Amino acid sequence: MAGEGAESPHQQQSDGLHVVIAGAGMGGLTCAIACRQANPPLAVTILESAPEIMPIGAGIHLPPNATRVMSHLGLLDRLKEAGGYSLQNFVLRRWANGDVIVAKPIGDRVKKEYGEEWLTIHRGDYQMVLLKEARRSGARVVLDSQVIGIEACPNESSGQQTVLLKNGQRIGADVVIGADGRSMPPVETGDLAYRGTFTREQLQSFKNARIDKLIEESNISVWLGPGAHAVFYPLRNKTEFNLVLLCADDLPEGVRTSNGSLEEMAANFEGWDPVLSMIISCLKTALKWKLLHFKELDKWTKGPVALLGDASHPTLPYQGQGAAMAVEDGAILALLLAGLQKGGLTSTSEDKHAQLTSTFQLYEKLRKKRTETNVAGAVRTRQFYHLHDGEEQVDRDRELSELPSSKWQSGCKWNWGDAPYQKSLLGFDVLDDAENRFQEFFNESKRTTNGAAL
Ligand SMILES: Cc1cc2nc3c(=O)[nH]c(=O)nc-3n(C[C@H](O)[C@H](O)[C@H](O)COP(=O)(O)OP(=O)(O)OC[C@H]3O[C@@H](n4cnc5c(N)ncnc54)[C@H](O)[C@@H]3O)c2cc1C
Repeated sequence: MAGEGAESPHQQQSDGLHVVIAGAGMGGLTCAIACRQANPPLAVTILESAPEIMPIGAGIHLPPNATRVMSHLGLLDRLKEAGGYSLQNFVLRRWANGDVIVAKPIGDRVKKEYGEEWLTIHRGDYQMVLLKEARRSGARVVLDSQVIGIEACPNESSGQQTVLLKNGQRIGADVVIGADGRSMPPVETGDLAYRGTFTREQLQSFKNARIDKLIEESNISVWLGPGAHAVFYPLRNKTEFNLVLLCADDLPEGVRTSNGSLEEMAANFEGWDPVLSMIISCLKTALKWKLLHFKELDKWTKGPVALLGDASHPTLPYQGQGAAMAVEDGAILALLLAGLQKGGLTSTSEDKHAQLTSTFQLYEKLRKKRTETNVAGAVRTRQFYHLHDGEEQVDRDRELSELPSSKWQSGCKWNWGDAPYQKSLLGFDVLDDAENRFQEFFNESKRTTNGAAL
């Protein structure tokens, strides 16, 4: 379906705002679905550079703040049918021997505490559920369409934008959303990831009692070591398993991915728990991913153009929140645009431009603090995960091991165990908050402008 019909996006769409989204990742697809589910729906075109969306990737978590968005879109059951399921415990282990430092219950407790489940799924399966729903809901997904720029119309205050594609096509839009995962120059974090999945049979072939136990448990296991850590958990009803190895980045500056060697990958974890070394030996490729994070950008929005997800706040994946923040962004942008459309956009293009600009300023206000807190939190998690053996590590392990006695309700020096921090990250209903803040903004704008700008 490469480039199918890209020249005439309005033909099959409604009379409302035309939203053009660059990038069919988690954030872009969520935004498209939420725009289409609005009443009345917004017209949506998604432009994706890949010629085909393949079910590639490894495991990904949907923490409760992400499942809350998926529940809101009515997609939770579909994600479960696609293999998403609830893990029981989040286990931190000693790097050298795999001994358990602490096991945090996440199954039923998370649902009770934060109102939503914590699911784990294959990234490809997650993206396929979103893609299917985006298409079903009436969004136009145009593949093989790399966005190379945006041009404001000569009369910039009209707000009308033209999206430029590498293949020479030009797409008109009222609103452009950059969900391409890479709109800004990010900061290198000093870490890289190797990630891969393998089958149950591969693991069973070791005939090792500890590996068999890991296979049967429904847990996330994280081995914490000096300057590195490893994450392991089951996928697809325990028929597959996911391994992520995080260690020092040795890629040249600016290189985002590269093939490494299996020997070099294993050498980074030499002397670690023998069980982990066996699991590492299952990996057949050693693709390195440079991990990036976000240096505060002054603005994510310019007129009727906004960024979401990794394009605006790339993060170390150490809180499992990158995609979760992207889907929160997407759903909130859709909520605000739908509110604006429903509230009655003015017919003059100048006023429309002003309305869209102030709505996107509200979006930025709603999202910036939360995503910055997440990016900073992931950096602190890195420090806590990667402590070298010594006094601080002994203190960390002692404080963590005492957490179960407080029933996970107390403060902790480390985000991972800090109840108020976890509550604000996982339990806060961003959609409800955005709805309220939009109503206040809308009412205030109406009052101060007497309806002229809104
Ligand atoms: C090792 C690792 C583990 C992770 N684990 C988790 C986890 O457990 N939980 C979690 O929530 N997050 C996790 N993340 C983070 C998560 O994968 C990202 O944060 C998330 O995918 C960002 O979503 P997005 O929609 O912003 O961008 P993406 O999902 O990257 O999508 C961007 C899309 O834009 C397309 N594109 C790029 N350029 C263009 C262009 N010029 N024109 C058109 N299309 C374009 C791309 O092809 C892609 O389809 C992890 C990341 C890593 C590296």
